[in-house]
Amino acid sequence: MALKVYNVLTKKKEEFRPENRGKVKMYACGITVSDHAHIGHAYQAIVFDMIRKYLEYIGYRVVYVRNYTDVDDKIIDKARELKVDPREYAEKLIHKTDHELYELEIKPPSVLARATECIDEMIEFIEKLISKGHAYATDTGDVYFDVKTFPRYGQFSNRDLNESVSGVRKEIEPGKRNEQDFALWKRAGSDEIYWESPWGRGRPGWHIECSAMSIKYLGETLDIHGGGQELLFPHHENEIAQSEALTGKQFARYWLHNGLVYIDGQKMSKSLGNSILLETMIKDYNKEAIRLMLLQNNYRSNLNLLPGMFEKAEAKLYHIYQLFRQVDKLGRKYLFIENNEILQKIDQDFQTAMNNDFNTPVVFANLFYYIKELEKIIKEERIQEAVNLKESLIRIYGVLGLFQQEPNDYIIEIKDKYLAKNNIDSKEVRKLIAERKKLKENNEFEQADQIREQLLQKGIVLKDSKEKTDWDVLIK
Ligand SMILES: [Zn+2]
Repeated sequence: MALKVYNVLTKKKEEFRPENRGKVKMYACGITVSDHAHIGHAYQAIVFDMIRKYLEYIGYRVVYVRNYTDVDDKIIDKARELKVDPREYAEKLIHKTDHELYELEIKPPSVLARATECIDEMIEFIEKLISKGHAYATDTGDVYFDVKTFPRYGQFSNRDLNESVSGVRKEIEPGKRNEQDFALWKRAGSDEIYWESPWGRGRPGWHIECSAMSIKYLGETLDIHGGGQELLFPHHENEIAQSEALTGKQFARYWLHNGLVYIDGQKMSKSLGNSILLETMIKDYNKEAIRLMLLQNNYRSNLNLLPGMFEKAEAKLYHIYQLFRQVDKLGRKYLFIENNEILQKIDQDFQTAMNNDFNTPVVFANLFYYIKELEKIIKEERIQEAVNLKESLIRIYGVLGLFQQEPNDYIIEIKDKYLAKNNIDSKEVRKLIAERKKLKENNEFEQADQIREQLLQKGIVLKDSKEKTDWDVLIK
């Protein structure tokens, strides 16, 4: 079955056919480093990482470019507020963000483009647009794209050019021909960062950055252009207008947009103070649990983050890793048999779901079905099958970055975390278990039960067997 993707350009699910057989040129709008990265940035990065890894899995060679916007009004404002150099400020944030994304097992793109490294290409791009009559410079040193010279302007985002964005006629900025004309080049204020250009000292507008960078690294036509849904207008509309006005060719064959992240039903915003920073998220939660939680959502839908969702994902993984550890113990003498039926079946289910516009919710529903199967197989002591099933799951779900940890490492990490939350450590747990054992030996059952109860209140359950007492944390 062929891969189908929902193309925002045609508003249809279409069979994916890149320009060149076997090769995919993919660009995704990256982060403007004006502040610390948050969960919304992480979501987009994980979505396009998932798409890229799947394309590679089904045999494509993917050249993936993601960018950092490292010069922008917001960066300049923030640097001014902090009294630091805007370039140094952006540089520091790029390093930090890179590290955080890497921690989430996001594979670095083939090219990590930076706006400030492509200024010459942007100036050249703008000069060509002016010579073709699509752009004009004002007396004050700004350059605008003339949207009236591109008849398809507004088509991508389904907008009527005659309608003002706000619904009311606004005063047009001095020097601008039409209200919707957008800046390609902005004159620099007296104390602002600048580059020399034919129009005086200034800096590029945000939209031109992505067009110039993607053309520089990937050529005039992209197979996939990705980004968040919120970029549809004006950013992507403008990218199409300026790129196609320049080259006369289609800019991107497929446009893929990921949904937004909401926190408890609300948009993340500075004023609400409800942003979840990437640094906090990776400190608080296991990376695979984060990936599981984010990818269980369909990439095109908005993700509404509710309290306890990360914990739930950690608990699910905890259960799975415990089963995996059990299989490891039981199946010590068994080897994984390649090309077994179960591997083929899991792979087939995986590809069927992913080929349907990367339907990860189904991919995870399948996973939980197979985990139930694994439980059953373990109970029935069909050890060879259990080994095959476990290894197959690791292999296929590894494409999405799951099950790459040692079961024991994961289990200990989560156990320690829950113990710390309940102000107890494993040493103390063992001490109390030993005490309880003595009490039981002396027939002081009431006191022994008190210890059991005391531990239960701290989220610890005891499991007695003939030989010994095991314990576990109560993760829900
Ligand atoms: Zn962009």
